[in-house]
Amino acid sequence: MTTKPSDRTLSRLAAVVGEKYAITDAREMTAYMTEWREIWTGKSPMVLRPALTGEVSKILAIAHETETAIVPQSGNTGLVGGQIPFERGDEVVLSLDRMTRIRKVDAVNNSITVDAGVTLKTVQDEAEKVERFFPLSLESEGSCRIGGNLSTNAGGLGVLAYGNTRDLCLGLEVVLADGRVWSGLKSLRKDNTGYDLKNLFIGAEGTLGVITGAVMKLFPHPSSRATAFVALPSVKAALDLLGLARQRSSSPVTAIELFPRNGFEFTLKHFPIRDPFAAAAPWYVLIELSGSGDLDSVLTEILGEAAEQGIVLDATVAQSEAQRKDLWFIRQAIVEVQKREGGSIKHDVSVPISELPIFVDAALAAIHAFMPGARPMPFGHIGDGNLHFNVSQPIGMDKQAFLGQWQAMNDVVFDVVLKHGGSISAEHGIGRLKRDLMTKIKSPVELQMMRDVKKLFDPKNILNPGKVLPS
Ligand SMILES: Cc1cc2nc3c(=O)[nH]c(=O)nc-3n(C[C@H](O)[C@H](O)[C@H](O)COP(=O)(O)OP(=O)(O)OC[C@H]3O[C@@H](n4cnc5c(N)ncnc54)[C@H](O)[C@@H]3O)c2cc1C
Repeated sequence: MTTKPSDRTLSRLAAVVGEKYAITDAREMTAYMTEWREIWTGKSPMVLRPALTGEVSKILAIAHETETAIVPQSGNTGLVGGQIPFERGDEVVLSLDRMTRIRKVDAVNNSITVDAGVTLKTVQDEAEKVERFFPLSLESEGSCRIGGNLSTNAGGLGVLAYGNTRDLCLGLEVVLADGRVWSGLKSLRKDNTGYDLKNLFIGAEGTLGVITGAVMKLFPHPSSRATAFVALPSVKAALDLLGLARQRSSSPVTAIELFPRNGFEFTLKHFPIRDPFAAAAPWYVLIELSGSGDLDSVLTEILGEAAEQGIVLDATVAQSEAQRKDLWFIRQAIVEVQKREGGSIKHDVSVPISELPIFVDAALAAIHAFMPGARPMPFGHIGDGNLHFNVSQPIGMDKQAFLGQWQAMNDVVFDVVLKHGGSISAEHGIGRLKRDLMTKIKSPVELQMMRDVKKLFDPKNILNPGKVLPS
């Protein structure tokens, strides 16, 4: 059990960063205590905003000595509540938002070394300056920070071609629970020297250490891109199109984003855009190739062949950057339009890619049987087997009554996910939202190994206690 920090402990912690960066005023703290959807609002005696790794080290040494709980926070865009302190009010928030130095950009090594508090957008922009590309891309990229991306092993739009955040990381600097600093900022592509420690901290959601710096991979900038909006008869057709595109194109497919007709209808209803196709289709994808050469022609040929095979019902290829943005808008609007359609119960799930068609059918059937009139809206990263299997409320149903079914609806969807060998958290993590499901999805052996790792790195349980691991 951690203890509520005494006034003496709080003034020692404040002295590390200076009074100006040790926030205790409730109003100033608000931005750190709640997340954007206001699902969780925590309480804390103090928010600390260090600027240097040495300061983080001193903070954790004091926290370890006094058994003070620390909640690391970067951009506060996490969707499972991991970055928000509990309501008890005894955890100190450690914000990385002042740790924003670009430490090194090495275009020859294709790497960038940054403080953990640098925003994802800044990393992308710094890469651009040396004609390189950083492929991690989330809608939250203006606010989320690299430390948070690493701690959640964020996914997003670039995973299909470049992998998750874990795959983009070469080295880490981490402050351990007792204040010791592990300087693992190596920028090597090959390093087989024992256990890969960095991978323990990636995806640990702040429960094993505080990430203060990272070396991330950069890539050559694609010189050409082709984007199409495609109408399809089925989910299987989307996978067939992906297979065909991969066979026919020497440049990679860098995105294939699926959504159903009702998602597109929501968008048509709430935004002034028009349906480019003469007939409605059950499913749509936004597909993009990136690389070099005349990719518009390559994609047009692929879509022609797919149409001949009955995979594609109709398609439109963007003819300009403005048109490309318009097509992407249709995909991006899916998140916003769900809000405008009332209550939405969220599921961030994945299954093996080959299982997707039967999984989607089974999950849709289970949702309709559980709640007739509910409007399921599975959309997202189909090429990664990851769908945001959200469910919008039945028309006319009371929003609160619908949201009151959150847990029961989760059970319905997760049962189908688990039957198909899937994961109940594909890219958002566990945090506090899914913590109590861990006993259902992990074997006793797996859970015990996780607890042993936690105990080794954080014997006093001061780092984000009560998150990820059930008590
Ligand atoms: C509109 C929107 C779209 C999104 N789209 C996607 C998406 O497509 N894919 C996806 O994967 N996610 C998505 N997210 C979720 C979120 O943006 C990611 O989880 C992101 O990686 C979180 O980064 P952050 O800096 O905001 O971390 P925070 O929210 O501050 O923290 C997240 C977790 O990491 C821990 N943590 C933070 N910093 C550190 C650190 N330096 N050291 C140790 N632990 C730390 C926190 O304690 C917490 O448990 C989206 C969120 C929003 C709001």
